Amino acid sequence: MKISEILEKKRTLSFEVFPPKKYDEEIDKLYDTISKLKVFKPDFISVTCGASGSNRKDNAEIAGHIKSLGIEPLAHLTGGPSSEEDILNSIEALKKNGVDNILALRGDKPVDYASEYCKTFKHATDLMKFLKYKSDFSLAGACYPEGHSECDSLYEDLKHMKEKEDAGAEFFITQIFYDNNYYYRLVQEARRIGITKPIIPGVMPLIFPSSIKRTKEMCGLTIPLEYRNMLEYYKDNPKVFKEIGINYAVYQIMDLIAKGAPGIHLYVMNNYKTAEEIYNRLEHVFKELF
Ligand code: FAD
Repeated sequence: MKISEILEKKRTLSFEVFPPKKYDEEIDKLYDTISKLKVFKPDFISVTCGASGSNRKDNAEIAGHIKSLGIEPLAHLTGGPSSEEDILNSIEALKKNGVDNILALRGDKPVDYASEYCKTFKHATDLMKFLKYKSDFSLAGACYPEGHSECDSLYEDLKHMKEKEDAGAEFFITQIFYDNNYYYRLVQEARRIGITKPIIPGVMPLIFPSSIKRTKEMCGLTIPLEYRNMLEYYKDNPKVFKEIGINYAVYQIMDLIAKGAPGIHLYVMNNYKTAEEIYNRLEHVFKELF
């Protein structure tokens, strides 16, 4: 089923998981996590894909497993350094596994990339156009509330977001953010330039002190001063730190829903407990407003 059709009818709850590095050793654990996530009745579960595309077979198998549990999978697919043939093989595997929805991405470039790294699929839109031409998948795109790190301005980035919609994106999922105002500004500016498709906010609780630095470095994200001060104050107490992170995500979600977000995408990173803690605190919100 097309996720965009679900979005026309209701607010969606979704989770994101990633293929384990040691696939054979850890896949049962991931499948156990996915079975537990099913209890929360997600509208879809997305499965990430490596930037180079090396784990696409795992990605397709996990998506197929999600489908077999009666949950709609959203398979991430990165163009990155792939050839057309690589992508054709991937879409065949995804089709065989019953996947209908693809989040089409360029993927992060390696630090030492050569200029011809993304030769065929330079940007997500190149992959989207190819997928539209060669298949009938329903497509989604990524977007960035604080602007993408490679772009000079949010407005330049928004222009490329509009190109994604024109290339066939039926909805968007955002990069994580810790100040909801960035999401509200993105939605407002997107609508102003004619982007009409749903923009689902991505939420990821900060539950480990080590993730503060990584989050800021990897994604260039702003952590509001008050929240940063709290994290700093509690960083030597892992249990309290985690509790603060979960509560902050709960606050973000409540605010996003109150202001009309079309869904919530939880980056649970294969951590079932995180999803459970958030769900339990917001059980009535999810049951009555989704
Ligand atoms: P693009 O849309 O190509 O954008 C990349 C940069 O190029 C942006 O600055 C954009 O403004 C600019 N740009 C776009 N089009 C043009 C153009 N025509 N001309 C000039 N500039 C242009 N990464 C993974 O490796 N695997 C994953 O599974 C994964 N999942 C993700 C899921 C979500 C929801 C999000 C938000 C990100 C995810 N990423 C993933 C990270 C993503 O791949 C990186 O952020 C990557 O750097 C950009 O991907 P994109 O698809 O947005 O690329």
